[in-house]
Amino acid sequence: MKTLAVASQKGGVGKTTVSLNLALAFAKAGYRTVLADTDPQGAVGFSLPSARESRGLAGYLTGGSTLEDVLIRTRFEELSLLPVGPMNPQDARAFGEYLADGTRLERLAEALAPDTDLLLYDTPCGFGGVTMGVLRNADGVLSPLQAEPIAMRTLPQLLETIGYLRQDGVDVTIVGVVLTMLQLRDEVSLDVAQEAWSRLPEDLVLETTIPRDATFLKASSLGVPVGLMRKRPPPVAGVFDRLVKELEPRLGLAGVEEEDEPLDLFA
Ligand code: ADP
Ligand code: MG
Repeated sequence: MKTLAVASQKGGVGKTTVSLNLALAFAKAGYRTVLADTDPQGAVGFSLPSARESRGLAGYLTGGSTLEDVLIRTRFEELSLLPVGPMNPQDARAFGEYLADGTRLERLAEALAPDTDLLLYDTPCGFGGVTMGVLRNADGVLSPLQAEPIAMRTLPQLLETIGYLRQDGVDVTIVGVVLTMLQLRDEVSLDVAQEAWSRLPEDLVLETTIPRDATFLKASSLGVPVGLMRKRPPPVAGVFDRLVKELEPRLGLAGVEEEDEPLDLFA
């Protein structure tokens, strides 16, 4: 099992949108995927109404619920969701302290590992206790960078945090920075993208970019990833299939063999 965390210093940059749509794309590529929401504000839960019924991650870690109780199966056999679970706002801080050293989430990973190829964590913004606990358990971090002027200023904190964890013996790497909400026809947005491409190390910024697209807003109001909006997914859903292809080698995922035998014309 590989573990990927989607994290960034800033909120509202597209972490939850990327997590949800990327989880579906990995599942469709054949990986048994669990999307775990760790944001005490329940971001994934908010956009998927069915996820509100589970006692979630908090219930599993603290309340004695079993994995079967808290995992939500979807109509894709390969995709399961683990919502964060209901939580009072005043408990969010304690939840962060509880997760910070990473040992609780290690227990979750051990329980999921036999039946899971990819554990994908959506995290709250910043590098508080919850995110640190997740990063201590992650093989890789994917960081969305919103294509807007001050975005680049938020990157040093990510790099420092990963540097600190690696010094502390944690084997986590940045698998890439993905530009989100990119508007190729908007000069300001394009400038930020070009700045990222020219100033950051070449292999840090992923080739795949997520365009700003009203479909994402519509999808979250319907409570689904864009890939599930209608029978024929909107074109923008294809972006996440490309992102999967780009992330596979960076995560050390081999790719799932597709059955591809020549068709027998005269059978
Ligand atoms: P985060 O999890 O980092 O706080 P979200 O994924 O919740 O960010 O995104 C913040 C808001 O921006 C949401 O309303 C979401 O629907 C919207 N959004 C995210 N990505 C896009 C995009 N590529 N195009 C348009 N709107 C987007
Ligand atoms: Mg979020």
